[in-house]
Amino acid sequence: FEKLNKSYEKTSNPISNAVVLGNGVMGKGIIYLFSKYLKDVRIKLRDLTQAHEILKDVAKIYDHSIKSRSMSKNQVDFKLNKISYTDKFLGFKNFDFVIEAIIEDEKVKKETYKELENVIGENTIIATNTSSISIEKLGSEIKNKENFLGVHFFNPVNLMPLVEIIPTEQTSKESINKVCEMLISSGKTPIVVKDCAGFIVNRILLPYLNEAAFILEEGSRIERIDSIIKDFGMPMGPFTLADTVGIDIGYKVASILNESYGSRMPIASLIEKMYNAKLLGAKTKAGFYEYA
Ligand code: NAD
Repeated sequence: FEKLNKSYEKTSNPISNAVVLGNGVMGKGIIYLFSKYLKDVRIKLRDLTQAHEILKDVAKIYDHSIKSRSMSKNQVDFKLNKISYTDKFLGFKNFDFVIEAIIEDEKVKKETYKELENVIGENTIIATNTSSISIEKLGSEIKNKENFLGVHFFNPVNLMPLVEIIPTEQTSKESINKVCEMLISSGKTPIVVKDCAGFIVNRILLPYLNEAAFILEEGSRIERIDSIIKDFGMPMGPFTLADTVGIDIGYKVASILNESYGSRMPIASLIEKMYNAKLLGAKTKAGFYEYA
């Protein structure tokens, strides 16, 4: 893989605005980032009644900046006012970049790209935030393959600097450069990685989270394992992390990695049980921990 901070080439028409599809854990973080650094952000909702809640959650991510006085309330309002929303595939024509952060499901994502391709400009870049599905597979039916790539943010988007950029064989150098340039000017650290299930970070992270679940099943305690790993120097323990990421996402990523790498990447039965019981972590207020 290649770290691009220093070596990317400046482009003549940089990305200045973006559309975000998907407004869950990741979508909201990405909306925050783009409202902060780009000129214009449009979001696609599944249901217009969600708008108030979603914008409130995005505003909450700015709270830290207000408390630390790095931004005033007026400055935050200015950023939030850049966000427009729609429940249709409408008004996307003049946008440079679209990122999809919807459910981790190959079929649903592919159907979304089909609708999207009818309503975007000729040069618009389409990116997917998939955690684990091969970009080649996701883009197989896309007409304009030079403008398609993976742009994998980590959770929480406002705090995690790394972004994996996953081009396919067909992605143009210009698309890669434009995306890297935009991310660097948004304070992120993009790295270009090969297209494979799980890319780099999740191939390392999943076995780590799995192993924590196996240790738990062997008779340890959630808090004890989390606290040992924090003492080891990680910012949070594996169970806090799994709850933050979402057990559903963890389970789906584990299933895709298991399909691709076999027994090297097992699915911990505890994760499967929690997924089936809808104990999905912070988003359902119950996972390894309970949330108020
Ligand atoms: P989430 O469950 O919080 O949000 C999913 C979003 O998809 C919601 O806005 C939901 O309304 C929408 N959605 C659900 N079904 C849909 C459908 N049929 N059509 C269109 N939209 C639909 O999930 P998330 O954690 O934000 O993950 C979104 C994407 O980002 C996934 O591809 C995931 O793999 C990836 N990702 C997640 C993490 C993480 O830590 N959670 C990290 C990196 C990447």
